[in-house]
Amino acid sequence: MQASTPPLAGLAIPAPLAAETLPPDTESCDVIVVGFGIAGGCAALEAARAGARVLVLERGASHGGTSSLSGGHFYLGGGTAVQKATGHQDTAEEMAAYLIAASKQPDEAKIRAYASGSVEHFGWLEALGFQFERSYFAGKAVIQPGTEGLMYTGNEKVWPFREQARPAPRGHKVPVPGDTGGTRMVMDLLRARVDEAGAEVRLETGATRLITSQPDRVAGVAWKSFGATGRAKSGAVILATGGFVMNPAMVEKYTPALGSRLIALGTTHDDGLGIRLAQSAGAALDHMQEPFITAPFYPPPSLVTGLIVNKLGQRFVAEDSYHARTAYHVLQQPDKTAYLIVGSTHMAEQQMQLVPLKDGYDSVAEMERGLGVPPGSLMETMNRYNAYAAKGEDPDFGKHPDWLAPQDTGPWGVFDLSLGVALYAGFTLGGIRTSLDGEALRDDRSAIAGLYAAGACASNIAQDGNGYCSGTQLGEGSFFGRRAGRHAACAAAMASHRDKVSGGLGGGDIEARSHGPNGEQERRCL
Ligand SMILES: Cc1cc2nc3c(=O)[nH]c(=O)nc-3n(C[C@H](O)[C@H](O)[C@H](O)COP(=O)(O)OP(=O)(O)OC[C@H]3O[C@@H](n4cnc5c(N)ncnc54)[C@H](O)[C@@H]3O)c2cc1C
Repeated sequence: MQASTPPLAGLAIPAPLAAETLPPDTESCDVIVVGFGIAGGCAALEAARAGARVLVLERGASHGGTSSLSGGHFYLGGGTAVQKATGHQDTAEEMAAYLIAASKQPDEAKIRAYASGSVEHFGWLEALGFQFERSYFAGKAVIQPGTEGLMYTGNEKVWPFREQARPAPRGHKVPVPGDTGGTRMVMDLLRARVDEAGAEVRLETGATRLITSQPDRVAGVAWKSFGATGRAKSGAVILATGGFVMNPAMVEKYTPALGSRLIALGTTHDDGLGIRLAQSAGAALDHMQEPFITAPFYPPPSLVTGLIVNKLGQRFVAEDSYHARTAYHVLQQPDKTAYLIVGSTHMAEQQMQLVPLKDGYDSVAEMERGLGVPPGSLMETMNRYNAYAAKGEDPDFGKHPDWLAPQDTGPWGVFDLSLGVALYAGFTLGGIRTSLDGEALRDDRSAIAGLYAAGACASNIAQDGNGYCSGTQLGEGSFFGRRAGRHAACAAAMASHRDKVSGGLGGGDIEARSHGPNGEQERRCL
């Protein structure tokens, strides 16, 4: 079929099509999943395994999306096989306590479900056909350089979090060496399992509009594949279309810092269209203004012993923070300017070389002049830092004693962490407001019947750079993607049943409730 499509770029919100206007022979299925990244793949697999007829529409030429580019951290805990094999104690309660402490506006029900379901989810992921290596990487790095299965990837040992929950490493890396691309292996396995489960995957086919039916139900999508367009009806639609870092208009509107001299991490399809499709059906959005931005200055770990100051010569963050937390605080400083100062006994060359060396200085007075900070300010800051560091203390920011060492031996090297100078990279975190089961929610938190969202186009655990832990995006995308898939399959079956009984297009909610295996209350099909 040939037809024009509405404007899809920028801030455009393509208007939904009325289901009542579609011809009776319009193709139909139970669940349409839009996007085959980690969230869409997991949603499709669970929906198909629940017995739904599933159609996956993927705009790209292959499955994978941004997920395939990613390094492969999944944030999992509560006593996984890797944690146990490497001697790290963890419980679902400690994991939840940490995530609640670290989140901007913790959704406690989601966090508790995620933590208590984490061991089961670990097993589900491995059952796709791979094993996380039963090994631990003890160094300070952005991601394990090799195939080690576990490392710390958040602020668990950083003050005040280490006092709010017993620290445990939860960054599970897929067994692929290197910084990027590790998750492609998981995506290929997921594709194989989705095919086995009988879901149809249609590549190079992008959803362009939602189809809605009365009263207020999402009932399918319109799509486009090169010059061809078409429509497909369904009992439920799951949006799993990724974030919006590649849409300059959305970035400017919501997260302007991401637009400023920064490497956007993602694929060209991260244009936020899925988010805007959800808006077209009345969905609310959460945390849209929060980006993940980072410019890691380690490894090597010895640089973490240095101190970071702003243009007033004052410290503002514990330097042992997870790199995105440090970056979050750099962005709050005057002119988004910050410097890492390292004495000669701890000076070393960065391995990632994202943060340039500004200069070397023989004296603190010379450094103050070179950085343009107020005279005397650095001297005061460094004297205080060094005196306490010698005692293994940091009364100002609670830096962990493991990383405290006086920086009192010159010459000093200064790395420039300022935005626009260091090579910052990032992606978006905000998205469609969702329930525990991935239902898209309106402003008043009522569910939009037939519409679900998961992954980077939705808002779940990862809310801002201050609390981000590496692995929460793949972790929540897969975890809540699965929940959305199961619930959507159930909702589609209920809608189909209602249609048969009433002879209409259906509507209304699933209200059967029971207690899930992990104790949380969840909606279930009868
Ligand atoms: C270099 C890099 C490293 C990273 N490392 C990690 C890590 O180790 N751990 C972690 O948790 N996170 C990591 N992230 C972030 C993480 O990869 C993403 O947040 C996550 O993969 C998003 O998954 P998703 O399924 O929501 O989206 P995607 O994987 O982007 O999938 C969305 C899919 O939807 C398709 N699509 C979009 N619009 C439409 C449409 N209208 N119709 C049909 N299809 C559409 C896209 O083509 C895409 O295939 C990393 C990101 C990058 C770039």
